[in-house]
Amino acid sequence: MNITIVRSINDLRSYVRKWKKSDESISIVPTMGALHAGHLSLVREATSLSDRVIVTLFVNPSQFESTEDLDKYPRNEDDDIEKLTPFNVDLLYAPQTDEIYPSGHSTKIVVSGVSQGLCGDFRPGHFDSVATVVGKLLAQSLADKAFFGEKDFQQLHVIKRMVLDLDLPVEIVPCKTIREPDQLALSSRNSQLSSNDRKIAPILAQTLFDAADQIKEGVDVATVLYNSKEKLIRSGFRKIDYIEFRADRDLRVLSKFDECGRIMAAVYLGKIRLIDNVEISKY
Ligand code: AMP
Repeated sequence: MNITIVRSINDLRSYVRKWKKSDESISIVPTMGALHAGHLSLVREATSLSDRVIVTLFVNPSQFESTEDLDKYPRNEDDDIEKLTPFNVDLLYAPQTDEIYPSGHSTKIVVSGVSQGLCGDFRPGHFDSVATVVGKLLAQSLADKAFFGEKDFQQLHVIKRMVLDLDLPVEIVPCKTIREPDQLALSSRNSQLSSNDRKIAPILAQTLFDAADQIKEGVDVATVLYNSKEKLIRSGFRKIDYIEFRADRDLRVLSKFDECGRIMAAVYLGKIRLIDNVEISKY
């Protein structure tokens, strides 16, 4: 099926208006492109749960720390379109930066609480930028459901909180992390790893899964986190931003396993920052 591409809010809205008139449900899958099987799992889920699906492709400049990082971010719209073709996607919304941030744009959404700590400590302002752009995409699309990956677990919490606090009439649907056969979580940034770092990268996920098993078996949480950090450093990860055990429900720090939790980590391999998390369920 050929995907219709729209680049302006007006064009997006004219489709949305038509669908709403005929009472069709609308889902949105926000992405920054460089699509992989992780993104496509969100698209698949969205198509199975709604009449109309909008995939957005927008590399949001304000959520990158440096122009170097922004410039290096992989972009290939033709490839993305090809990957979406087998799916029942109605629209690809791929606006230019000035469509999203026209001159004079001055409003920011700041979600406190869940955006503090973890990545929030190492990427100041990042979650304000994410919340602002997602808030705008939700307002522009008037979607009934929006799909986000658990891979970016803190981001998922920030978006859920924003939707709750701003009374936005949209359901946030979390989707499981998709991994390579060696357990590395799929990420658009993986393509930037050197071939040697690509061999080291799966040790992150493997370490988190081992840590989860140990915590489940009753090993002291602080000991598990300390040993995991040591293992990552020994394995060649250059810098560990954090490795923490947090509550699944609200990201509170957990010092023991008395409710469902997540081992969450952000690390550097060379210049590439990788994040991942593994659930530790009580059930
Ligand atoms: P991004 O293009 O990196 O902004 O990601 C767009 C959406 O895809 C976000 O909701 C991510 O959490 C989700 N996503 C990215 N990687 C994965 C993955 N490996 N598995 C599932 N969802 C993912």
